[in-house]
Formats: sequence, structure tokens, C-alpha cells
Amino acid sequence: MDNCIFCKILRGEIPSTKLYEDENSMVILDISPAKKGHAILLAKEHAANLFELSDKSAEKILPVVKKVGQGIVKTLGCDGLNVLQNNGEASGQTVFHLHVHMIPRYKGDDVSIGWKPLSYEEGEMALMAENIKKNL
Ligand code: AMP
Ligand code: ZN
Repeated sequence: MDNCIFCKILRGEIPSTKLYEDENSMVILDISPAKKGHAILLAKEHAANLFELSDKSAEKILPVVKKVGQGIVKTLGCDGLNVLQNNGEASGQTVFHLHVHMIPRYKGDDVSIGWKPLSYEEGEMALMAENIKKNL
């Protein structure tokens, strides 16, 4: 993927600050962090998003997020860590190469990752589940 910024980072054509690397992924510090220590895992396979990633790569990712996430928490002494991953522009994705964010969090910090909770009408929740299950 010639014009993909994360492929360029993976090939070493663009500098990055690397925390971890194995045959399936690389973890680097995010250049514009929500909090210092914010890291992103880049899949080595170019896939625009989670849905395009092979199962083989997908299954290798979570153990790395767990390992590096624990390392970030231990190092920074933060109170929590958001693990999040955007798929599609509407979700906030800006780089279309699969990556997973690890964001250190502190009690009362100013990072905003949130939503206004909605509620379901009577029966709507069960219907929603039935509809989604049909497409699994
Ligand atoms: P997303 O909005 O989920 O697509 O996240 C893309 C992330 O990539 C953002 O948090 C950017 O700050 C980060 N990013 C973009 N370019 C670089 C880069 N050259 N090195 C490190 N992080 C980057
Ligand atoms: Zn790429």
C-alpha cells in the first residue's frame, strides 16, 4: 500500500517511536496523543478496518494490546486505559489502516470519549438482537 501512512511507518519510511513489534503487529506512540503515553497498535497486514482484517491477524492482536496496555499502566501509574478502535469515517477513523488505540486515563481527566445513553422502547431491544443475530 504505497500511500498508506501506517504502511510507510511499518516499512520504516516514516519515523515512529516504537514500543513493541512482532510478526503481526507494531505498537508505536501516537503522534498527537489524547494523553501522553497514548499508543497505537498497527496490524502489519494492510486492512482498512477490522472487517477487512484476516482472522489470523485479528486473533494475534488482543494479547499484544493486553501486554502493552499493562506496560503503559505500570509505567505511567495511570488509573485506567481505554482500548478503542474506529471503523469508518463516521466512527472517527482518519487513517484507513487497522489500528487499536491505547489511551492512558486518570481520575477526573479531560479526555472525552463518551456518548449520551439512549433507551429502548418495549420490545425494541429483543428485536434489535434478533435482527443482528440474523447477520452473524
Ligand atoms: P483514527 O482517528 O482512529 O484513525 O486514529 C489515527 C491516529 O493516528 C490519530 O490518533 C493520529 O494522531 C495518529 N497518527 C497519524 N499519523 C501518525 C504518525 N505519523 N505517527 C503516529 N501516530 C500517527
Ligand atoms: Zn496500510
